[in-house]
Amino acid sequence: MRLYSTKKTVPEVSFKEALFKGLPSDNGLYMPLEIPKLPQSFFDSIEQKSFAEIAFEVSNALLGDDIPAADLKKIIDDVISFDAPVVKVQDNMYVLELFHGPSLAFKDFGARFMSRVMSYYLAKDKQDINILVATSGDTGGAVAQGFYNMPGIHVTILYPSGKVSDLQEKQLTTLGGNITALEVQGTFDDCQRMVKEAFLDEELNAKFNLSSANSINISRLIPQSFYYFYAYAQVKKLGKDVVFSVPSGNFGNLCGGLIAKRMGLPVAHFVATTNANNVIPDYLASGVFNPRPSVRTISNAMDVGNPSNYQRLVAFYNEDVKAIRADITGKYFTDEQTEDIIKKVYDTTGYILDPHTAVAYLGLRAYMYENSAKDVTGIFLSTAHPAKFIEVVNDVIGKNIEIPESLQAAGKLKKVSIPLGNQFKDLKEYLLK
Ligand SMILES: *Cc1c(COP(=O)(O)O)cnc(C)c1O
Repeated sequence: MRLYSTKKTVPEVSFKEALFKGLPSDNGLYMPLEIPKLPQSFFDSIEQKSFAEIAFEVSNALLGDDIPAADLKKIIDDVISFDAPVVKVQDNMYVLELFHGPSLAFKDFGARFMSRVMSYYLAKDKQDINILVATSGDTGGAVAQGFYNMPGIHVTILYPSGKVSDLQEKQLTTLGGNITALEVQGTFDDCQRMVKEAFLDEELNAKFNLSSANSINISRLIPQSFYYFYAYAQVKKLGKDVVFSVPSGNFGNLCGGLIAKRMGLPVAHFVATTNANNVIPDYLASGVFNPRPSVRTISNAMDVGNPSNYQRLVAFYNEDVKAIRADITGKYFTDEQTEDIIKKVYDTTGYILDPHTAVAYLGLRAYMYENSAKDVTGIFLSTAHPAKFIEVVNDVIGKNIEIPESLQAAGKLKKVSIPLGNQFKDLKEYLLK
């Protein structure tokens, strides 16, 4: 795989360079130069393949020139060690459950794949790296779990103090070892800006072998395409193209879906659904990208005011907003609507939506209704287990939901974090000390 920067002012790089560099030096984002189409034979028999088999074929088409098939197969079998089932919630409304991994959120896919391809290359080169990552909640837990105890990798996680759930905080502050949590007195956007500046800082780069693990890293996007194929495999028997509603913050998940569509997956349409942080739905409606400070919501992993993957989104379509609209509809919903639908879906079907999944449900429902979409299968992505947002969910449905054992265990551990200001100089000072 060869990759270019969306700003197009620096040379193309290999997958390995993009993996470790994270961001190109011109402040763009790496994009694959070419996205290969999978052969029709792959889709003809896709329903007979396992999740890991599908993921291997997709990744081999993308990375076959970079990682030998036998090594890639080992990596995939390790990454795809849990299921992503499609569950029927009601007529023509299916949920793709992406929360069966170790941190109970979809970011496990990106973090696990990234850590394993990095460790594959690091072992070959006998090298060490420092991962810097900003999290609005779930990235941190998934990265901490995904990279924990990986030899030669130290992970520093920045998170906004008081703006992640208790359990999310526990997941990123309790592992210790090679994982350090920095508790920033600011917003997620502050954290993200500080990390971005660190990658552009010459002094830090001279001293450390810095790398990112955010959704900006291309190795996070690739595995996020796998489950779109696997979802299709599970509903193929219904004989219709698929509409996916993706609960979005930084839009990495959606970009994974766009890769899958480019590779030939029969996706009729995407719904890019957000909470009140509706910069992308606004852009789709007006054609103007107007990033702004994030506002706090109950689906806080999507509280992003300046979605970095906007650059990739427009790059996929050569900046042609009409072409984007042909594939993607934007929708956004308030906390009140989100709470109402969690309760309504629970009362009518028994299915428990976490707040992020509820936003995706609302986006799909609105799209299906507006388009009288009977000839498509509707799938909304569930990005987190409801127990990760237990305060909201218990309150709304009026009952205590069950907490998976892995979360109960994390909840009992002691939080260890280092407080930090919200300026880049604070981060730099800490790292150089
Ligand atoms: C990160 C996250 C999202 C948003 O995903 P993006 O790829 O940033 O759009 C949605 N839901 C949950 C639970 C998340 O952790």
